[in-house]
Amino acid sequence: MDNQKIETRLFINNEFRPSASGKQFKVVNPFTREPIAEVHEANEQDVDDAVAAAKAAFPAWRDLGPKERGACLHKLADLIQESMNDLAYLESISTGRPVSQYFDAAAAADNLSYFAEAGWTIQGTSSLHTPGHLNLTVKQPYGVVGCIIPWNIPVLAFVMKVAPAVAAGNTVVLKSSEKAPLTSLYVANLIAKAGFPPGVINVLSGYGVPAGAAIASHMEIRCLSFTGSSFTGQKIQAAAAKSNMKVVHMELGGKSPAVVFEDADLESAAVQTQFSVRMLSGQACIANTRIYIQESVAEKFLALFKEKFTAARVGDNPLEPSSHHGPQVDEIQYNRIKNYLEIGEKEGKLTAGGDAKDGFFIKPTVFENTPEDARIMKEEIFGPVVAINTFKSEEEAVEKANDTNFGLYASVFTKDVDRAVRMSKALEAGVVGVNCTSPSMANDTAFGGFKMSGLGRDGYLHSLENYVETKSILFKTGSS
Ligand code: NAD
Repeated sequence: MDNQKIETRLFINNEFRPSASGKQFKVVNPFTREPIAEVHEANEQDVDDAVAAAKAAFPAWRDLGPKERGACLHKLADLIQESMNDLAYLESISTGRPVSQYFDAAAAADNLSYFAEAGWTIQGTSSLHTPGHLNLTVKQPYGVVGCIIPWNIPVLAFVMKVAPAVAAGNTVVLKSSEKAPLTSLYVANLIAKAGFPPGVINVLSGYGVPAGAAIASHMEIRCLSFTGSSFTGQKIQAAAAKSNMKVVHMELGGKSPAVVFEDADLESAAVQTQFSVRMLSGQACIANTRIYIQESVAEKFLALFKEKFTAARVGDNPLEPSSHHGPQVDEIQYNRIKNYLEIGEKEGKLTAGGDAKDGFFIKPTVFENTPEDARIMKEEIFGPVVAINTFKSEEEAVEKANDTNFGLYASVFTKDVDRAVRMSKALEAGVVGVNCTSPSMANDTAFGGFKMSGLGRDGYLHSLENYVETKSILFKTGSS
């Protein structure tokens, strides 16, 4: 792909335009550390313009049937599928993602294809139970939906929000992350080609403040879907409450535990748990960043784990198909992780990895025997860093695994079916993997977090519910 052709303007009402303020921000390649684009930065005025376009587009879009709306979604799925190489390239040069690990476009196309048909499944109920009445409940779109997405899985996060929102008849104003605006703008360019009428999907680039904050507190936005850190989620929820009490749906951070019992297939547990922490250079919400291993097999597991985890070659250009471990997304994230490594060395024992001292690369890093109340056990580091501790009994494992404010994904490795059932019930997480861990996922099950890891659920059978309101209609049919 030609870097000169990278789109950098805002996408409002099916047109690309400069930001109202004329301000732009730099996107830097985290591998070369060279600037690659100057992207237009949205402010409150741009958010107002995008919301006005979405509001104007809403009645006609709502009144189209699922078949017509679905045709646009199907076309967008095809266009994204055809653009896989360009999207992988853009994500790689802007976020450092190895092209070999670029799964987002394929997953996004699948998501769009599902929601292209699923609009028909939005259904209410009917009742004759009130004498003299035929009563109904119906599901209706909110109107303008705001979407705010992170940088680690930009195209997938974009589609997981926008596809169900527009399939349900809403119109959308989406803000991408300031660290990864390029693929969202690329997808914006496909939106008019897919046949979406002007204003149905608007795409803004910019920072949390002012653009994200303006979306969170906008009086015309009735529903907001956010994916990002729990810290930002709290600010967004407060802004929503202070403005118009818009409905918020959130997919937030994690500190996910994997519990490995002595009867588990240790080889399989080691292969899976190390990949969970290593993928996306540890920049995944669902990474099992705390591992609890039963004391009797700790030594064996640690040897298997470290051998695989530390084998990752660090320092390769993520554009090379042979590269499997990219740099951290930018200098801020790199410094943040380095800071946690320093904190961790005071709190526990670093037994493998550390700062690669080569650009923004961090080596897959292991801490052992860290006190449970240490910061690196409690806070999301968002890097290839794992803390491995031991336990003696099942009760102790459950207590340690649940001793966190997060609750996104937990996993348990054991061959004992009764124990697997007990653990699945006891672990406080929105998703529990038994003999598997993240990124294992199923499209039709619910995805979302307990505690501070989220509000609401995504998934083929769950997402539409986030974007509709329920209304009761009471029909008096005469005396009876
Ligand atoms: P972040 O919270 O820093 O930013 C996310 C988005 O919020 C960005 O677009 C940012 O510009 C915007 N934002 C920042 N401040 C804002 C404000 N005051 N008002 C409105 N918007 C604001 O998160 P990030 O660093 O982009 O992403 C990493 C985080 O996302 C991690 O915590 C990770 O666990 C989480 N995440 C969760 C999931 C999930 O499905 N649960 C998926 C991916 C990432």
